[in-house]
Amino acid sequence: MKIRENRLTEIINVKEPRGKNKFGQPYRVLMVDDSTTVRRLGAQMLRSEMFEICGEASDGSQALDLYKELDPDVVTMDVNMPVMNGIEALRRILAYDKNAKVVMVTSEGHRDMVLEAIKIGAKGYVVKPFRKDSFCEQLRRAIDG
Ligand SMILES: [Mg+2]
Repeated sequence: MKIRENRLTEIINVKEPRGKNKFGQPYRVLMVDDSTTVRRLGAQMLRSEMFEICGEASDGSQALDLYKELDPDVVTMDVNMPVMNGIEALRRILAYDKNAKVVMVTSEGHRDMVLEAIKIGAKGYVVKPFRKDSFCEQLRRAIDG
């Protein structure tokens, strides 16, 4: 009986992975960062919570093209990148799709950039080095609205 009770508690306490919707389908994420290391680590964190990485871009211009092609549920957007930075990419993605969900990924010491991004319409931000919990939490908040 004790064993059964423990098993029941275990079942009740199992947390749903944060990367899936209520129908069990993964949320599709476009990851944008010029650092392959940041993309790799971020993708690992998100996949462990069952998010699907539908695309990766290393600058803002690629991000805009891929956004149009892939129509992701959410975008993680680095700020400092070559060719087109994350602020400009955010602006252009929102001009293309005003309902786009974009979470900024920024380095410490760029608070002014974050404020500007939020003003433009970013749905949240994380500061590098980010942890899995806060990263997934920001993505879910952006998606859930
Ligand atoms: Mg960068």
